[in-house]
Amino acid sequence: MSDSATDNSGFIDIRRRGLMLVLSSPSGAGKTTISRRLLELEPQIALSVSATTRAKRPGETAGIDYHFVEPTEFNLMINRGEFLEYAKVFDNYYGTPKAQVAKEIARGRDILFDIDWQGTQQLAHNAREDLVSVFVLPPTTRELERRLHTRAQDSAEVVAKRMAKAADEMSHWAEYDYIIVNHDIDSSVESVRAILRAERLRRQRQIGLTDFVKGLREGQ
Ligand code: 5GP
Repeated sequence: MSDSATDNSGFIDIRRRGLMLVLSSPSGAGKTTISRRLLELEPQIALSVSATTRAKRPGETAGIDYHFVEPTEFNLMINRGEFLEYAKVFDNYYGTPKAQVAKEIARGRDILFDIDWQGTQQLAHNAREDLVSVFVLPPTTRELERRLHTRAQDSAEVVAKRMAKAADEMSHWAEYDYIIVNHDIDSSVESVRAILRAERLRRQRQIGLTDFVKGLREGQ
């Protein structure tokens, strides 16, 4: 593969390395909606599909929302070193399989991760250069509670547990590169897109620059 290519408009498209965009938040802060919109609007992003031991919820599709696996299978995946990161969240295990991520990043595609703070810490440790982390906060506690109840996919007991867990999750906000308070979905989506746009221009991600500048200096 060459380091740069000319696109249809005649502009040089400088080859770049993909980035790993993490969106974390307590459940109900709007992260899933933001992720969905982002995937519609940004064709260069692929969603990392996690493996989990939790049961499938109504409306979820295996292989698209998650790879639903038995605890024994999850353990085997850990032992085979197949995860980029994994963590116990609530009462279940969640993990990011390595294979898809490595492939997409090398191709210059970005990957979106919907993972918690524990997973983000592991990615910061293993792949800091590729990581861009964003934490989404709800505008108020009351709004968070309202969204969790409206969703109503989980039992009241689970909702109560998630509310309790939200305070703990939010205490990790300062470990993230960017913070978005989700007052309004449209503007939150635009904020994430602005972050993406700037981060894609980072010098270390534009791996085709050396050849591009060499060409410029040689008058090509
Ligand atoms: P849910 O069960 O609502 O889909 O997800 C519960 C929590 O697990 C969310 O905070 C979500 O971000 C997190 N999560 C989902 N997949 C992963 C993963 O692969 N790794 C980690 N560390 N957390 C995950």
